[in-house]
Amino acid sequence: QFPFGRRLPCDIYWHGVSFHDNDIFSGQVNKFPGMTEMVRKITLSRAVRTMQDLFPLEYNFYPRSWILPEEFPLFVDEVRMMKDSDPSWKPTFIVKPDGGCQGDGIYLIKDPSDIRLPGNIQSRPAVVQEYICKPLLVDKLKFDIRLYVLLKSLEPLEIYIAKDGLSRFCTEPYQEPTLKNLHQVFMHLTNYSLNIHSGNFIHSDNANTGSKRTFSSILCRLSSRGADIKKLWSDIISLVIKTIIALTPELKVYYQSDIPVGKPGPTCFQILGFDILLMKNLKPMLLEVNANPSMRIEHEQELSPGVFENVPSPVDEEVKVAVIRDTLRLVDPQKKKRKDIQQNIEFCKNKVNVRYNYFLCHRCQALEEVSGANAELQEAGAAAGAEQDPHRSPEPGLPSLCLKQVFPKYAKQFNYLRLVDRVAALFIRFLGVKGTTKLGPTGFRTFIRNCKLSNSNFSMASVDILYIDITRRWNSMGMDHKESGMCLQAFVEAFFCLAQKKYKSLPLHEQVASLIDFCEYHLAALDEKRLVCGRG
Ligand code: ADP
Repeated sequence: QFPFGRRLPCDIYWHGVSFHDNDIFSGQVNKFPGMTEMVRKITLSRAVRTMQDLFPLEYNFYPRSWILPEEFPLFVDEVRMMKDSDPSWKPTFIVKPDGGCQGDGIYLIKDPSDIRLPGNIQSRPAVVQEYICKPLLVDKLKFDIRLYVLLKSLEPLEIYIAKDGLSRFCTEPYQEPTLKNLHQVFMHLTNYSLNIHSGNFIHSDNANTGSKRTFSSILCRLSSRGADIKKLWSDIISLVIKTIIALTPELKVYYQSDIPVGKPGPTCFQILGFDILLMKNLKPMLLEVNANPSMRIEHEQELSPGVFENVPSPVDEEVKVAVIRDTLRLVDPQKKKRKDIQQNIEFCKNKVNVRYNYFLCHRCQALEEVSGANAELQEAGAAAGAEQDPHRSPEPGLPSLCLKQVFPKYAKQFNYLRLVDRVAALFIRFLGVKGTTKLGPTGFRTFIRNCKLSNSNFSMASVDILYIDITRRWNSMGMDHKESGMCLQAFVEAFFCLAQKKYKSLPLHEQVASLIDFCEYHLAALDEKRLVCGRG
């Protein structure tokens, strides 16, 4: 531990809270710049909402949400309209303060008028969300799932999911929300930090019982009841990939701002905690994403009144140790070296006939000398000799990987969703000055001009008006006053506007995809022209 910083460069930097170093020029850091901001309740809801606008069916795993204070009138109107159209609809809503955690400040309401406006609503931004009334119950209790996800790289996108997670249980039997039980947190909120204070919390040495269990134990139970576990897993994988696809555009803007291309800097990876609720019909719903999930493997136990001791928690240990160990194995800087050696050995094996075994040994020996790492070669050799199972442990004595790659493995199924990523690439191209996250009016005009979006129906004066209108509105929502200009979300809104104008009759995602193609085509042509002129 280096609480006051460290002078010599490291291979891997493991920070406790967030990405905050400006003086790391190499190696890998376990946090992405901007991740903490991105997974706050409001930002996450906004990012998912943008995707819901484009792909409503694909993103129906996130409860309908409204952002307070600015969408309070919209919330009231929409609820009234839905109630009018279906008088039997008796919804419940959950109000969550932005930036809160561990259930802090959360409460349930039956009607928009029940929202507590502490003096000035501006003082406490929050998300209000449709409450999932029919969760899956085990032993009559509501529970949620904490899954660990490794975002190993943003560009190219690489995602791993841990094969096991935690299930955190409520400590009072669940009943659907009524005015009488709305306030009963031990019945409705699954947070460990809350339920631990209930007299009913059961610490267990056994992964199958108690108030915190492994997710695999729940799956076993569901499987014995005949549930389709394969389908559940594939729904969960799809939820995770889609959520990360919603987050990547803005993360890339943060990334280029903190670690501009061409400047020496570290690469980043990050373990995220996904909180997921299973509905009665086994559909997984995303509750939230944690940028800094707790990795504690012990809990406090009260030995005698007022006397506490930390004791190991076998369930936490089983799940979390594997996640950290495998993360380190996957980002291991020696691994690349080993991979190169292994590829060379494979090359020898494929190209050289068995009769030339003698030669093979010598080539391997030469490689060994080049790498200067005896042990590494033995491992690589062992791995090369083994069948090509990517999850098979190349490190003798270590268990097989608990982190399973899901992206790019399933990229083909999900790449069509990455439209906002491409819009973000356009945004970043026109940001101009390195290190900024907001687009100035000149950058926006250049974007319009270079992509040939202005014409007799859409003059440059209208372009300026569009820029001013959208930028002013986003800045008045007041998330970030540090820089002036157009943030990515505002640019995305402007882009959708332009797409709707240009390709009127198509569904939104096709309008947006067509406009992206159009812009990319003109920019590629421009680049080519510049290249030719440059050569000339
Ligand atoms: P926090 O960051 O404070 O833990 P969460 O969004 O995770 O906030 O919500 C806390 C708990 O409230 C969750 O663990 C879950 O049990 C419950 N919860 C949150 N959102 C919903 C929802 N839309 N429907 C049902 N239960 C919810």
